[in-house]
Amino acid sequence: MKYLFLIFFINFLPQYAGKSLSRDGNYPKTFEDIKKEIAGYSSIAKAIIDLAVHGKAQNRSYERLAVFADTIGPRLSGSKNLDAAIKYMFSALQEDRLENVHLEPVKVPHWERGEEFAVMLEPRNHSIAILGLGSSIATPPEGFVSAEPQQISFLTLLISICALTEDSTGCISCLLASGDRVKMGGDDYPGPLGTKVVVYLKMGAKTYPDSSSFNTVAEIVGSKYPEQIVLVSGHLDSWDVGQGAMDDGGGAFISWEALSLVKDLGLRPKRTLRLVLWTGEEQGGIGAEQYYQLHKKNISNFDVVMESDEGTFRPMGLAFTGTDEARDIVKEIMTLLLPINITDIYDTADGTDIDYWMRDGVPGASLRDDISKYFWFHHSHGDTMTVQDPNQMNLCAAVWTVVSYVIADMKEMLPR
Ligand SMILES: [Zn+2]
Repeated sequence: MKYLFLIFFINFLPQYAGKSLSRDGNYPKTFEDIKKEIAGYSSIAKAIIDLAVHGKAQNRSYERLAVFADTIGPRLSGSKNLDAAIKYMFSALQEDRLENVHLEPVKVPHWERGEEFAVMLEPRNHSIAILGLGSSIATPPEGFVSAEPQQISFLTLLISICALTEDSTGCISCLLASGDRVKMGGDDYPGPLGTKVVVYLKMGAKTYPDSSSFNTVAEIVGSKYPEQIVLVSGHLDSWDVGQGAMDDGGGAFISWEALSLVKDLGLRPKRTLRLVLWTGEEQGGIGAEQYYQLHKKNISNFDVVMESDEGTFRPMGLAFTGTDEARDIVKEIMTLLLPINITDIYDTADGTDIDYWMRDGVPGASLRDDISKYFWFHHSHGDTMTVQDPNQMNLCAAVWTVVSYVIADMKEMLPR
C-alpha cells in the first residue's frame, strides 16, 4: 500500500516541479515562481467574480443576449438576419467603448431552406415533422412520392427512420432520425420490418452564390506586448431555426462580457485581449478558416485561442489543449476560481473555430459546462432565450474572464 501511495503522490506532482524553466530564454523560472505569480492574481480574480456574479454586471450578458436574440432572431450564413446581427454587434461593441472595433470580410455560403413538407401515405396517413439538413437540394416543385424504399423502419415521429428512396428524376432523399432526439435518450425503434412505407416529400431549398459577411472583432489593447494576442470567441451566425440563443449566442456574449468586465474594472493586461465573433461557423468554420489564413503569419504571437460553443449552462471548468507544461499553468490559474468552486480542467479543448490554431500548436481552451440538455435544443426551433439562465451565464462569464485576463497579463506567454 505504501508503495502504491508513493506512486500516486509522485504522479500528481507537476512534472517539472523544482526544475528550472527558461521559456523565453532570458531567465530560469521554477514552477514555484509561476505559482506565486498566479497567486498574486487572487484579488483581481475575486474582483472579476464579484462584478460578474454579484455586482453591477450581474445578468448583463444574459440581458444583452435577450435583446439581441429577440430583435435579430436566427442568423443563418448568407441571410439578412446575419447582416443585421453583425451591424448590431459592431455598434454595440463601439458603444461599449472597446478598442479597434472592426469587421474583417469573409465570403460565406448562402443556402435557404424554403418550404418543407413530408407526409407518410402508407401504411397510414401521417404527417412527419422534418427539418432539412443544411445544403439540402429541392425536390421537383410538385414534390415526389418515394418509390421502392431500399431500407426502411416503421415511421414514428422523428425517431428511427432511415428511408432511402429514389424517384424517377434521380432525386435521392434520406429521412434520418433526428440525431439530437436520439441523444436525448430516444431509442431506435425498428418497427414491423417488411411493412411497405410510402412517403410524399416536398422541399424548396435553394443554394445561391457565396455572399459577403464579416468576422466581428474588438480588443482591449495590451499595455506591454500589444502584438501578442489572447483570443476569446464564439460564433455570431446560427442555424436558421429558433433564435440561436444557445448556439452560439451564449458563447458569443460571454466572450464580449469578458472584455466588458476587464474594461469596467479599469484593467489593461500586458497582452491584447481580442474578441472575435465568427461568421459562417455552422457551414464548417468558414469565417474562422479565412481568419486563420489572414493571420497565421503572426501565429507565434497567439498566446491562447479560446472558444465557447457548447452552451453556457452551469460551468464545470475549462477544457484545454496544449503541452503538459502549459496545462499545469492553466490548472494553477483555475485555482483562482475557487470562490465559485469551478476549478476543474479537462482534456482537449473543443471548438470548430479555434481548431486551425490548435492544430498548429497554439494552446486552446473551451468552456466545459453541463451539456446534458444541450442536444434538446441544438439546431432546432427550441434554441431560444428560454434555454438560457442568467445565473449560469454570470458564472460562465466569470470563468472566461479570469482565465483570459490572467493569461493575457502573465509575465510570459504559455509555453507550447
Ligand atoms: Zn455552435
